[in-house]
Amino acid sequence: MTYTLLHGGTVVDVSGQTLTDILIKDGEITAVGNFSHLSEGDIQRIDCTGMLLLPGGVDVHTHLDSPLMGTTTADDFESGTIAAAMGGTTTIVDFAMQTPGSTLLDSLQVHREKAKHKAAIDYGMHMCITDLYDGAIDELPVLRQEGVSSLKIFMAYRGTLMLNDGQMYDVLKGASKAGSQVCVHAENGDVIDRIAEELVAQGKTGPGYHELARPPKTEIEAVERAIRIADMAEAPLYFVHLTTEGSVEAVARARSVGMPVSAETCTHYLTLDRAIYDEPGFEPAKAVLTPPLRTFEHREALWRGLNSGALSVVSSDHCPFCFEDKQRLVGADFRSIPNGGPGVEHRMSVVYGKGVAERKITIEKFVEITSTFPAQQFGLYPQKGHLGVGADADVVVLDPQGVTQISAGSQFQNIDYTLYEGWSLPGEIKKVFSRGKLVAADGQFVGQVGNGKYLQRAGY
Ligand SMILES: [Zn+2]
Repeated sequence: MTYTLLHGGTVVDVSGQTLTDILIKDGEITAVGNFSHLSEGDIQRIDCTGMLLLPGGVDVHTHLDSPLMGTTTADDFESGTIAAAMGGTTTIVDFAMQTPGSTLLDSLQVHREKAKHKAAIDYGMHMCITDLYDGAIDELPVLRQEGVSSLKIFMAYRGTLMLNDGQMYDVLKGASKAGSQVCVHAENGDVIDRIAEELVAQGKTGPGYHELARPPKTEIEAVERAIRIADMAEAPLYFVHLTTEGSVEAVARARSVGMPVSAETCTHYLTLDRAIYDEPGFEPAKAVLTPPLRTFEHREALWRGLNSGALSVVSSDHCPFCFEDKQRLVGADFRSIPNGGPGVEHRMSVVYGKGVAERKITIEKFVEITSTFPAQQFGLYPQKGHLGVGADADVVVLDPQGVTQISAGSQFQNIDYTLYEGWSLPGEIKKVFSRGKLVAADGQFVGQVGNGKYLQRAGY
């Protein structure tokens, strides 16, 4: 049996839907068309009647096995990539953290070791720069040769992760020269630290105050400043996890005058409300992630931003810490709760169920923002991000008539909660193929740990 034939489904790409077959050989799509004439002996036929065939999800924002705020994220490359595969994501680009006192290249090697023999799907890496030591900029072309063509910097978390504006300018210039792009976490960290101090001084120490310490303007100001600095450095810029209407407007303005600025938002900012911060006890800690969840008006602006093209990517920002660990590490006030939440497993299902099924976006837009654009933005296209000839056979078979139930008890993510607990969503992922191999089928993981390949990404 040399061929696999996905037969009878509707193939979706950014420009439309076609009732057609997909022929797979040696992990790649070899042809798209009508293959009913092929003889049975050569092929494994998979009936996809009534199903949507979508390009495998590309999640460009995950933090697996990552040291952060005195602890480590709860999913390693094994559990994290299995969870991704179960949710229809067949490629991730994970953030390698620069560890204090280490060079960028050494930190990258440490993170690549963590992924080796563990990943169940293909993966690339970004590099986070948290300490701009002498010589760091000289390593950017080497990172680029290693397939790491994107760098992340933080405008928040002074003293641990943050770079100042001058350093940001240096990284932007260096990256641009190396053919790489810079991803920025845009929040005004210094103002946030002051507001947090004021809140704590007033005895407002509970986890829900995390939200008040990070008002929308702290994001919008940082977005506007980063755009101006990138303009001065003549460098491309990508915003991770935007959450506010003002940020979407700032990005749209920059793009309208031809600046190379792109931006993502995340599943939870599109679908979850800030009301969780008003809940009693320690419950709000589940949503202690940055930036915080926002109001309905901001969510609507994010959907509009996706439809207008101001936002081009939806990622998960999967940065899981168990609720139990958040409780253990809380200390005197909300500032010491590890910042992050889970999501790699449910990104595709939630965006489909809340976006496509509720007619906020079309199915073509869904493919664009969950797969095609992230692959293009991060040097993975045309190998990833579409179902054309020559692409890796990463395919999601989705039943639009099916239903997805979400609960912590049944998820594959190695964490004791989900922000979508009890949700029942239209659309069900029936099968997932990674380079032609079945990795998820009817809710079971059937892939192989260690089969995921490191992706050498192209430059910007
Ligand atoms: Zn993140």
